Amino acid sequence: MAFCQVIVDIAHEDVDRVFTYRVPEGMKLCPGMRVHVPFGRVRRVEGVVVAMADACDLPPGRVRDVTDVLEDYPAVLPGLLRLAMRIKESSFCTLAQALRLMFPAQMRGERIRNKTREVVVLTCDRTIGAQLVASQARAPKRAQVLAALLESESDETPVEALRQKLGECRQPLMALCKMGFARIEEREALRSPYGAMERLAGQDPTLTAQQEQVLSALLPAVEAGKGAFLLYGVTGSGKTEVFIRAVRRCAQLGRTAIVLVPEIALTPQMVMWFRSRFGEDAAVLHSRLSPGERYDEWRRIRRGDVRVVIGARSAIFAPLEHVGLIIIDEEHEQSYIADSTPRYDAREIARWRCEDEGAALLLASATPSMRSFAMAGRGDLTLLEMPRRVANRPLPQVHVVDMREELRAGNRSVFSGALLTGLTRCLDEGHQAILFVNRRGYSTFVSCRSCGYTVTCSQCDVSMTYHSAENVLRCHYCGQEMPVPRTCPECGSPYIKYFGVGTQRVEEEVRKFFPDVPVLRMDNDTTRTKDAHAQLLARFRSGEARVLVGTQMIAKGLDFPEVTMVGIIAADAMLKLPDYRSAERTFQLLTQVAGRAGRAEHPGEVFLQTYDPENYAIEAASRQDYRAFYEEEMMRRRRALYPPYTLLARLLYEADRAEDAQAAAEAAMRQMEAFFERRTYLKKYVIALRVMACPVKMIRGKSRWQVTLKIVDQPICQEAVGKMSEIARTPLERCACICQVNPSSMM
Ligand code: ADP
Ligand code: ZN
Ligand code: ZN
Repeated sequence: MAFCQVIVDIAHEDVDRVFTYRVPEGMKLCPGMRVHVPFGRVRRVEGVVVAMADACDLPPGRVRDVTDVLEDYPAVLPGLLRLAMRIKESSFCTLAQALRLMFPAQMRGERIRNKTREVVVLTCDRTIGAQLVASQARAPKRAQVLAALLESESDETPVEALRQKLGECRQPLMALCKMGFARIEEREALRSPYGAMERLAGQDPTLTAQQEQVLSALLPAVEAGKGAFLLYGVTGSGKTEVFIRAVRRCAQLGRTAIVLVPEIALTPQMVMWFRSRFGEDAAVLHSRLSPGERYDEWRRIRRGDVRVVIGARSAIFAPLEHVGLIIIDEEHEQSYIADSTPRYDAREIARWRCEDEGAALLLASATPSMRSFAMAGRGDLTLLEMPRRVANRPLPQVHVVDMREELRAGNRSVFSGALLTGLTRCLDEGHQAILFVNRRGYSTFVSCRSCGYTVTCSQCDVSMTYHSAENVLRCHYCGQEMPVPRTCPECGSPYIKYFGVGTQRVEEEVRKFFPDVPVLRMDNDTTRTKDAHAQLLARFRSGEARVLVGTQMIAKGLDFPEVTMVGIIAADAMLKLPDYRSAERTFQLLTQVAGRAGRAEHPGEVFLQTYDPENYAIEAASRQDYRAFYEEEMMRRRRALYPPYTLLARLLYEADRAEDAQAAAEAAMRQMEAFFERRTYLKKYVIALRVMACPVKMIRGKSRWQVTLKIVDQPICQEAVGKMSEIARTPLERCACICQVNPSSMM
């Protein structure tokens, strides 16, 4: 008799263990398959088989049968099953939650079906068919249909194609079937997301010496199926071509590859390059795919139809077999961290998956994360470098503009004199320019000149942003809108002023200075619809617009040959955020934005406007000197005991009433203190344990409190993190709680 062990799809801790079921006679099962089982008083619950067994210690009467199988193949591959178990251990979630990462959400609860289409299969000999066509004068439509079927080269013709050609033809078709000339069958149809995507002719460029050198270290590792690398290559050094060659070698060896990018919509060129070189062998897991498309791409991958998968964070769980290489581009991006349960870092998952499945790992960036560069320093990653741009194109020249001097000279405009001169020169020469602003909207806050009152959102503890297009104030946390006050709600003064600069303001200024120059704006407001990103980028590429104004979105991976000038309107805005990574993020962003200039024949020029030109992050970014920044930043982190030297964990409490959030956080604080009292061996690693209101005290009407723990990053200290997630899972009445470790935002 056969038994199987099942994890039921219920994310509750009490059922976070395997349950044994009997496999009915004739049912074919293996680990990773999804099944329906009876559970408690519920007749049908979905579950995943995690193991098979020949025997079972339970008395026969207590073991129930598996009801049925959902798919006739394992939805969760063995490697991904092992990965789920590891995620459960490390992120303190249930196995059911970890397993949910492994297949599209729509497959649960059978919310999605395979799409099918009808085809007509010709079942008669073609000569006999032709005779029939000739003899069907009294049934002209029937003859037409048969003739069309005979014309087709394949023996199968989609019914839809026939209908498009001949109009409605169901009846004659059915008649032909009755006569035994044809048969209608259902065929699986895969929804394709590639309709609009352009295909380039895939010509291989000759590799540069740097690319050759990097590949000579990388390819042997791909062949051997081991090794972990960090590729530090400046912007425009040609990292994509390295990826393509490595993936191709992988495919030649009969293995598959995963390429992660921070966000697909922002890296259309990467996708295009891969699609043009690998065609149907490449699948794209896009966050904007419809559920049907997503499911079909997943199945195409699962069936082994593709060689390489390109996608954002969750594509790390792509159901590929024989993975030989995993690439993570722009590895410094925060988007690789999933903050909600199950919490994971795609870079860490990639490492596990590579070690487990015998694959090589390649992290790449022009501005590697502190953590990865430190790992390279210790030898945990092999450092590969591409310090020069393709064809020895120079890195752009960066001019730091001290905005305090502009003010002193009486220039209150958004643009400094230097930036304006540079922009004029660029446009006169017929090139394109990018202007970067880190906030959307018109101004970043609205404030009273007389009393200093600032308009904040009633639901969030943040200032409202003015949007000139709709003439409203909008909250960027919750989306709430309100009319612009004419007088100060506090003191009645009419001197309301707009401070800070957003994308709309910059766009307006460009139009003012250059009325004849077409401008495009790219931010969350202009990219709400499905293909808006791609369309905006295509319009800019075509030269229809000469200036692109945008937020963070334009900093990543874009390669526009005609862009020779980049203006950074306010370099300091990010530096002031209360987050230990604000310097790192500022450096990364400035370097990446600057890297968009001068990528083709014409050299590039960058104007970086700042009120704080001596700041080390800004100074290093202006020289695009990653190493200098890294050394300084590591020294500061060591001194202030921040990651990667320590772990930062927090319990985040949110409640309708501030008292409830506070009370819950304080109770958790006492539990943590008691925990450390009992564990003296951990206590010595604790650097700080605090309870306080979050930096942003309210979001969407919920008050927020937190308990933060700063502890030395030692394996043994995971126990403290475990305790925190245990506390987070205890249900509370009027309060929600989550546990985060090194979260992407500490706000
Ligand atoms: P990175 O990702 O390192 O910033 P890209 O991969 O976008 O750089 O490459 C920068 C530019 O150089 C692209 O336009 C690319 O087509 C071009 N390029 C890359 N490798 C070569 C090569 N070997 N020969 C000619 N052009 C190349
Ligand atoms: Zn006032
Ligand atoms: Zn709000």
